[in-house]
Amino acid sequence: MYQNKIVLVSCCAPCSCGAIEQLRRECADFIVLFFNPNIYPRDEYQKRLSEQIKFCESVGVKYHVGDYDHDKWLRDVAGLESEPERGLRCSACFRHRFRYAEKFARDNGYNAIASVLGVSRHKNQAQVDAAAADVLVDIKYLPVKWDASTGQYDFYRQNYCGCEFSRL
Ligand code: SF4
Repeated sequence: MYQNKIVLVSCCAPCSCGAIEQLRRECADFIVLFFNPNIYPRDEYQKRLSEQIKFCESVGVKYHVGDYDHDKWLRDVAGLESEPERGLRCSACFRHRFRYAEKFARDNGYNAIASVLGVSRHKNQAQVDAAAADVLVDIKYLPVKWDASTGQYDFYRQNYCGCEFSRL
């Protein structure tokens, strides 16, 4: 059992369902944070957000939706647009989301952060963990390897990571 009050940083419902199921069994107090200003275009963002909310509500889990400021995110990855996936742009993207998560955790009484940003087979968990270590100052990071999703859910599944630079 986790003793921490955890903010779970989520990119989407398919990547987070396994972690959410695990935390429902092993953590008395956690919240799903959907803060993904990296997602483009806006209607794609809305689709992923709707799926996340639908899933959280179906299993009775708390969630919070962060701001969607794609222009601010673009400024944070400026100069890295042509980086490949798993390159420097992705590290900057992870740091952007973890900075927000830390402020959210601090402001709302949570004392730990975990994420599902490394769950996809297209992602590098070590890179996600390194980005968290770079930016988190006073909130503990939990580098958890989550249970695999059971695949029992019929989610909308995107075919690219999120930003315009990762679209196929
Ligand atoms: S490919 Fe994904 S992780 Fe990398 S910068 Fe784009 S949205 Fe962020």
